[in-house]
Amino acid sequence: MNQEKINFNAGPAALPAIVIKQAADAVLQYKNTGISILELPHRGPEFLAIIEESKALVKELCNLGNDHEVLWLQGGGRLQFSMIPMNFLTPQDTAGYIDSGHWAAEAMEYGAYYGHIQVMGSSRATHYDHLPEWPQEIPNHLKYLHITTNNTIYGTQYAHVPKINVPLIADMSSDIFSCTRDYSNYDLIYAAAQKNLGTPGVALVIVKKELLSRIANHVPPMLNYKAQAHENSILNTANVSGVYTSLLMLRWIKEKGIANIEAENNRKAELLYNAIDNSSLFTGYVKNPAHRSKMNVCFTAVNKEIEQAFLKLCAENNIIGIQGHRSTGGFRVSIYNAVEEASVITLVELMKKFETNS
Ligand SMILES: *Cc1c(COP(=O)(O)O)cnc(C)c1O
Repeated sequence: MNQEKINFNAGPAALPAIVIKQAADAVLQYKNTGISILELPHRGPEFLAIIEESKALVKELCNLGNDHEVLWLQGGGRLQFSMIPMNFLTPQDTAGYIDSGHWAAEAMEYGAYYGHIQVMGSSRATHYDHLPEWPQEIPNHLKYLHITTNNTIYGTQYAHVPKINVPLIADMSSDIFSCTRDYSNYDLIYAAAQKNLGTPGVALVIVKKELLSRIANHVPPMLNYKAQAHENSILNTANVSGVYTSLLMLRWIKEKGIANIEAENNRKAELLYNAIDNSSLFTGYVKNPAHRSKMNVCFTAVNKEIEQAFLKLCAENNIIGIQGHRSTGGFRVSIYNAVEEASVITLVELMKKFETNS
């Protein structure tokens, strides 16, 4: 193992050491095929087995049955921003979006290329430092309501999402499988893999079969959920090694169990938020504890000098990836499923030491 740094990057993010080892083994030779996973045919029996096992695991982890399709698509999160309105909105239709952060806003912008957008709540005016109020009433004419369960850049997260009267579509890119959820509540879930589920360029989509019957005409096969489902996500040359890495992650998640992962995520987040709240040098970006993300912890320092000094100290201690997004500044520590509690403890101890010596 050559991972000598503690990696708090927001994505591509840290992977479990065992998954990196298994992926490395598969790069040298996949099972007993005599070839590397990087060379494995996308239409052969081995990749079909990878697809089938991964689909079954996703359904098992989400407690879903035959009413749902599981797809592995390319193009990451942003292609889903486009495919959703492309498939489910025509220029006459309206979709609702909750504008809770950077990615939520971008999803909404993409939606506006295809139909009307109704903003069903926004926290943009205060730079997304809290979650917008959940809409009192959701108009029945909306083709869907789009939400982002975890706002990766500003660090807010919906702990609970109620059942609603129109199709509910959720971007779970940065918190899928991080906590127990009623996945049956959602009509379409998507997640770019590079945060909690593998490597970049792969997106997981879980869609209710019923929704597939509502797809607009004139959506070409590659961008059409129904056509992708029909071809078992192997419509074109699939991202074989990317999907395999996601399968390794799914096996790892299943072995740990989502309830255990959630308990560990709660402890990690509590450690870090407590350190921030008890510090005279750092301030949490999101003030309301009920709105705080357990995946991306955002905070600022009292001034630029302190910020730079702490970044330098972290670099000297092999801690990387804690600089805030270019739009927010400050710090963002991403503590996805694969980030170990010990890594968070190391960071928190360094914060305390820094404070004592400042
Ligand atoms: C990272 C992220 C995206 C963007 O994913 P890309 O694969 O880079 O397009 C979208 N939504 C959320 C919530 C994210 O965290």
